[in-house]
Amino acid sequence: MGPNRYVRTPIPEDPGEERADHFEEILHPYTREEAILEGQRCLECAMPYCVQACPITQDCRGYNILVGQGKFDEAARLTLRDNPLAMILCKTCYHYCEEDCIMGGRGVPIAIRHLKRASLEFGKSDLLYVPSKPKNQRIAVIGGGPAGLMATWELCLRGYSVTVFEKEPFLGGQMDTIPRYHLDGDEMGLDLARFKNLDCTFVVGKKAGKDFTPESLLKEGYLAVFISVGASDPRALGIPGEELPGVFHALEFLLAANLGEESAFGRKGRQVVVIGGGDVAMDAARSSLRLANKGDVTVVYRRAREDMPAGEEEVTEGEAEGIQFLYSRAPVRILGKEHVEGIVVQQTRLSEPDAQGKRKVIEVPNTEETLSCDTVIVAVGEKAALKDLPPELGLKVSAQGWPEGKKEDWMTDVDGVFATGGKSIVYAMGAGTKAAEAIDAYVSKKTGGQPMPRPDPFGGPTPPPRFPKGYGLPTWHL
Ligand SMILES: Cc1cc2nc3c(=O)[nH]c(=O)nc-3n(C[C@H](O)[C@H](O)[C@H](O)COP(=O)(O)OP(=O)(O)OC[C@H]3O[C@@H](n4cnc5c(N)ncnc54)[C@H](O)[C@@H]3O)c2cc1C
Ligand code: SF4
Ligand code: SF4
Repeated sequence: MGPNRYVRTPIPEDPGEERADHFEEILHPYTREEAILEGQRCLECAMPYCVQACPITQDCRGYNILVGQGKFDEAARLTLRDNPLAMILCKTCYHYCEEDCIMGGRGVPIAIRHLKRASLEFGKSDLLYVPSKPKNQRIAVIGGGPAGLMATWELCLRGYSVTVFEKEPFLGGQMDTIPRYHLDGDEMGLDLARFKNLDCTFVVGKKAGKDFTPESLLKEGYLAVFISVGASDPRALGIPGEELPGVFHALEFLLAANLGEESAFGRKGRQVVVIGGGDVAMDAARSSLRLANKGDVTVVYRRAREDMPAGEEEVTEGEAEGIQFLYSRAPVRILGKEHVEGIVVQQTRLSEPDAQGKRKVIEVPNTEETLSCDTVIVAVGEKAALKDLPPELGLKVSAQGWPEGKKEDWMTDVDGVFATGGKSIVYAMGAGTKAAEAIDAYVSKKTGGQPMPRPDPFGGPTPPPRFPKGYGLPTWHL
């Protein structure tokens, strides 16, 4: 009898109680045999909703099939053909493809993200990207996160010469704050090693607004500038006591934790309260638990569990590790004289739905309670650091907080300057592709050239199909 198509090959995972005191990776790769079994579950759909759901239209149907046939080298090549940050994404992507996989309605979706990892673990993945004939035209990218890196890859493949300016001493953007129990190695180093023959230069430690401006780059001879600076300014709670030692913003805390700074926790860090309900709050809570050596970590969220924006996987994994959750509570003030000693929270309820069906959070009077704690981590979102960018660009700020050009192709009010970002790594990469296409069209028009589709990244004679035959544009494009 063949494999049961409706049951997923289990992904090896450390038990919750054993993993909460260390940062080692908690999901482990499939063996070759397990990967082949899981690949064989794919129905090879003529209309692959999985590919359509992926913001970079990764041909995951294709690599699933190849893994199912045990053709790992071919699977790795196909994976890397569409995805220059595949090593990172095979461990961190929020796998939108799996949500739309047809097998989800019949059993459990194919483990598409984990099969991407299998293709790279067992196939030859140290391939090198090949640029087209040099155009001798320079483009500048500001910000070395996934949007900027994807745009760089797209433009270099087309023969442009790209310089990336990054304010930090390292590349990666918000990817650098992802905890090590998700990304435990030098995944970015492995991904960027494939860029070796592309004409790209990474200039780190240079900040727009201080060392240069987008317009100064145009004056220096760059034909276009792509701003992909993300959303890095922390949103504050705006409550008394927020300035006390022992209060951290999630991004600074997570970055310090990844850089191995034990001081990430300041003085104590045994009793931690995390404010927020998104993926970043979950990363902060789960990292706190590990740094505090199974200390006492509570997540305070102002709505119910089912309303949490964090992925179900993250919440369930956090629960299994021993994090406590306090729902329908809002922070009121942080207590302490020289250091945090506690936090006062208040019960909340939801209003009746408004015309758009939205329900507001309402604080319930006389329901205050004090939680004893020595550390508060604020994880209620980030916004663009617009002060570093000239007002002449006329930037708008996206709902998730990054700066964007107002025009349809994300061009700003300054001719030749484009700006955007993304709500997750793969969305940022999809945005990087779209920005690179707009830049290619703009520069080609200006210089009398022809914009080109993405060439075969491995130097083959024909551009690879962007969407497998038989279906239309992916939904995120519409
Ligand atoms: C804690 C955390 C965990 C996450 N986990 C995941 C995950 O598991 N999976 C997932 O898909 N997504 C995850 N995300 C979201 C994802 O990382 C972001 O959506 C994505 O990185 C955004 O990409 P971006 O290129 O638009 O911006 P960013 O990644 O923010 O990159 C912007 C870059 O621009 C640089 N910059 C800013 N200002 C300037 C300036 N003035 N001059 C020069 N450079 C500048 C910044 O230093 C940064 O390197 C996570 C985010 C956080 C915060
Ligand atoms: S990049 Fe993410 S969404 Fe796309 S196929 Fe891979 S796991 Fe799925
Ligand atoms: S939707 Fe699911 S079953 Fe169909 S091709 Fe994609 S991964 Fe395979």
